[in-house]
Amino acid sequence: MRGMIFNIQRFCVQDGPGIRTTVFFKGCPLRCAWCHNPESHRQPAEILFSEEKCVLCGACAAMCPKGLHRMDGGGHAFDRAGCDGCGRCAGACPAGALELCGRWIGVDEALSLALRDADFYSASGGGLTLSGGEPMAQPEFALALAKSAHEAGVHVCLETCGFCAQEDLERMLPCVDLFLFDFKLADAEAHRRWTGADNARILKNLAFLGEQGGRIVLRCPIIPGVNLEKAHFEAVARAASSNRGVLQIDLEPYHPLGIDKAQRLGRRPGFCDTAFLDREALEPQAQRLRALTGLPVTIV
Ligand code: SF4
Ligand code: SF4
Repeated sequence: MRGMIFNIQRFCVQDGPGIRTTVFFKGCPLRCAWCHNPESHRQPAEILFSEEKCVLCGACAAMCPKGLHRMDGGGHAFDRAGCDGCGRCAGACPAGALELCGRWIGVDEALSLALRDADFYSASGGGLTLSGGEPMAQPEFALALAKSAHEAGVHVCLETCGFCAQEDLERMLPCVDLFLFDFKLADAEAHRRWTGADNARILKNLAFLGEQGGRIVLRCPIIPGVNLEKAHFEAVARAASSNRGVLQIDLEPYHPLGIDKAQRLGRRPGFCDTAFLDREALEPQAQRLRALTGLPVTIV
């Protein structure tokens, strides 16, 4: 059983309780305009290219079996169209200008990497988090990894956008200790506009998890110009209060770190606002949510 991932990060403290290892799955059914991990969108491995680091040595052109890199007129032309993500060009680049994003990993390897930090998990109440991208876009791998970790006594979090088959979530229930469930927009039309997908299935899955005894943290990206408004916080409060599984609300202030990555992938960023949203700016809304729901509300 293998899955396509784009990172495994140790010592994470914002992906669930305690100190955690986060496995980032590659591939996502949504296209949130503000996404800070655009390299997670497509499942196949791909190349990030930082033009400003390129020293025009031509090593990539020599290595690419498809002839996709060309040193042309004092510049570097990269035709991504036929790239199969073999990674040879990135391996040959002496300047760090090319980075391969995405690799296959087996359940055993992923688990053994996670278990290196088992002592930290025990000491801090941490564990393993499946994130992405969207882990449930690779449901068999997500299930196998969560199950193995759970059987090894590791606390498991699943971070999900919720746009997936209900049966797949149901299978995850016995081996996921905490669901980090995204709540982006309550309005269906706005959700379609900003994420490219309908939210009916997401809201249904959120309700289903709560009914089935899932323990849920509602993760709410707060994006100026999209959902930084009173009506949205009221919708968050309603969603949390009406779901007995919701234990906590996390507010995630917008940051623009996805813009550079989108450009390095040769794509136009969906959202070009370069200003970070201050954590402190959300404190009044956090307080209001605490008052409305009686739940802990953190700004992450
Ligand atoms: S990843 Fe492989 S196919 Fe793609 S540009 Fe690099 S060498 Fe060529
Ligand atoms: S190998 Fe790296 S530094 Fe050399 S031309 Fe290719 S991208 Fe530029």
